This record gives sequence, C-alpha cells and structure tokens, in this order.
Amino acid sequence: MLNKKTVEDIQVKGQRVLVRCDFNVPLKDGKITDENRLVAALPTIKKLIADGGKVILCSHLGKPKGEPKPELSLAPVAVRLSELLGQEVKFAADDNVVGPNAKAAVAAMKDGDVILLENTRYRVEETKNGEAFSKELASLADVFVNDAFGTAHRAHCSNVGVTEYIDTCAVGYLMQKEIDFLGNAVNSPVRPFVAILGGAKVADKLNVISNLLEKCDTLIIGGGMAYTFLKAKGYEVGTSLVDETKIDYCKEMMEKAEKLGKKLLLPVDTTIAKAFPSPIDAEIEVAVVKADAIPADQMGLDIGTETAAMFADAVKSAKTVVWNGPMGVFENPILAKGTIAVAKALADTDATTIIGGGDSAAAVNQLGFGAQMSHISTGGGASLEFLEGKELPGVVAANDK
Ligand code: ATP
Repeated sequence: MLNKKTVEDIQVKGQRVLVRCDFNVPLKDGKITDENRLVAALPTIKKLIADGGKVILCSHLGKPKGEPKPELSLAPVAVRLSELLGQEVKFAADDNVVGPNAKAAVAAMKDGDVILLENTRYRVEETKNGEAFSKELASLADVFVNDAFGTAHRAHCSNVGVTEYIDTCAVGYLMQKEIDFLGNAVNSPVRPFVAILGGAKVADKLNVISNLLEKCDTLIIGGGMAYTFLKAKGYEVGTSLVDETKIDYCKEMMEKAEKLGKKLLLPVDTTIAKAFPSPIDAEIEVAVVKADAIPADQMGLDIGTETAAMFADAVKSAKTVVWNGPMGVFENPILAKGTIAVAKALADTDATTIIGGGDSAAAVNQLGFGAQMSHISTGGGASLEFLEGKELPGVVAANDK
C-alpha cells in the first residue's frame, strides 16, 4: 500500500511551502478556456493558507522547450487564481523562473500569502531533472508539496529533483485521491474486481492488459483492441483495426487468463459498417453481426447489443471497476452505444468506479456520467502507468508517513 505524507501531516506555519500544481490549462488568445485544473487545485492551496504557510505555487504550461515563450506564460493563471481564491496570487514574473524577481517576491512574503512562479519549462533543465534548477527551486522553500498527478510519471526538477534538497515532501489532496483510487484500490481491490479496457490499439496497452489480468477477477476487452483478440481466436474480422504484430501477444494473454482462472470477456457481437466514418461524426449505415461473422469487406466500429448487455451484467455484481478506453468510435453518436451502455452500467453499480484518464475520462464526462463515478483520473499517461503497475517517480519522491 502507498502511504504518503499528505498536507494533513505537515506543519507549515511560517514556512515557505513550494507546491507543484498542474496548471497546464488550455489557453486561447491569453484566455483560459477550461479552468477545471485550477478549481481542482484550490483545496490544497486553501489548506496551506489556512495553516499559515507562505505558499509558492509552480507548474509547467505547454511545451516552451526550455526558453521563455510569452504565449505560454503562467501570468493569466495568477489572475484567474486570485479571483477563484478571493485573495491576491502575486505573479513572480521571471524568465529564469528562480531569478532575482522570484527570490525578492518570496523574501517579501508574509504567512498566508500566495505567489506563482513562471512556467517551469522555461528552463531547459526542467524536463531533464537537472541538479542546478532543482537546487534553485529548493532554495526558495522549507517544505515541498506535490499535487500534480498529470506529470507524476515523469522525473522532472519541479516534482522529483527538488525533493532531494528539501527534507519535508508531502502530497496534496488531488495527488492523494489518485493514489487512493488508481494505486491502492487497484492493488488491493475489494472483490469482485472487474477491469474494462478499450480504445484503439492493443499495442498502447500491452502492460496494462497483462498487469490488470493478474489483479482482477474479470477482464473485459472492447473497442478497437478487441479485433486483434478476435483475430487471435481465428475469427474473420474484415477490415477492422488489427495489429498483426500483436496476435501472438493476444493468444498469450488468453492463455494467461485461463491459467490464472480469470474470466476474459471479448465481444460476442459487433456493430459494423463499410468504412470508418468521415468526418468522424458523419451519418453512417451500420449493422450488428456475431463476432465470428464479420464480412471480409466490413469493419467493426462498436461492440454489439448482446455484448453491451453481457459487459453491463459483468459489472453488476462487481465491488471495484476500473475502466480505460472507449468501447467503440464514441465520437459518432451511432457508434457510441456500446460506450454509453458501459458508462451507464458503471453509473448504476454500487461498486467503486475508477476511470483511468485520457479519452475515457473525456467520454464519460461528455456522455454526462461524470458525477456518478467514484473517481475520474486527471492524468492520461500517469494513470496508464499506474495501471501498468509501475512506480511513478513523482509519487515515490514524497515522504512515507
Ligand atoms: P488515452 O490513451 O488518452 O487514455 P484511451 O485509452 O481512452 O485514451 P485510446 O486508446 O486513445 O483511448 O483510443 C480512443 C480512440 O479509439 C477513440 O478515438 C475511438 O474512436 C477509437 N476507437 C474505439 N473503437 C474503435 C474501433 N472499433 N475502430 C477504430 N477506432 C476505435
């Protein structure tokens, strides 16, 4: 079990607290177009203010590739964050991130003040976890808090390097929630534990399939990746998405499931069409056929109705469900039925339901089921690496309780 020190376990009164946030928000003409990440960061920031810390926020934004890019400055984030917090968040404008301006701003802080440093990726060392920049960041603070899950799978100065030079390193509320759900719930799940995997390609999720098969009781495979499994069973899959190089891997996974006594559920029917819709949301003529009866000139673009019912049924008695990857081309309403059926089944179950980031998180939110899930991960790459069973450097770096 991961048992990391959190903001509840540290003393910050009168201390300078460097907080690594995920303020990597979409910007258009200097305006923030989606402020979810800012809102999500507030509980940790408010807690540190209430406890009398001097709160120094930092984050990356986009990919400035190691040089100042005015269009990727965090200045607009400081403005919006001030409004959301109801308190000034002073922006420490500094092309060097930790230059004279930032140092002076920190030196002038009183307990409960908040400042925001410039985009950490203005510094070329950031993504290389360089020693000099790590030390410079650490020199600003007495305590470090990491609340940026989206970068936890990377070892950078602002989330890993800096922890080598600060004794007290804790995680924020957001990070704690990701650890509780994706880390601990998956590693010691309340059973039955059902894992559902979909999305485009088997190759993207090789280690996730293998790791979850060991942890879960039932593994459900849908989406584009299912057709490589169906082909591995010897079925005709027409022009469906297939990764010929991974057929042996799929056979291996089916054998592994059998050996471990795990249920591996694959589509028994599928929704087919003549071609991939273009544009993606175009009106399209479809039919539902048995999984072993896909005509050679047709492609599978969603699970079929019988499969949707079977998958929904498998979720019913579950106590823990993890889901990553849509069941079909959900961007098209005609091909979203399988994904909707699974989302609905998750919304209806009493199980702890965990959505593993990226496209799946977007799909669940877009389809209106977001509020009914126990946890929707904020990190695409980081959540996948967690599901692969990997240790995330950004998580490991925090002190244990
Ligand atoms: P992320 O990797 O960002 O977490 P994800 O794991 O949720 O995302 P991806 O592997 O990126 O999902 O795959 C999602 C894409 O797969 C969607 O755009 C969807 O249209 C596509 N897809 C799903 N089923 C099929 C199919 N049968 N044929 C072709 N494409 C499909």
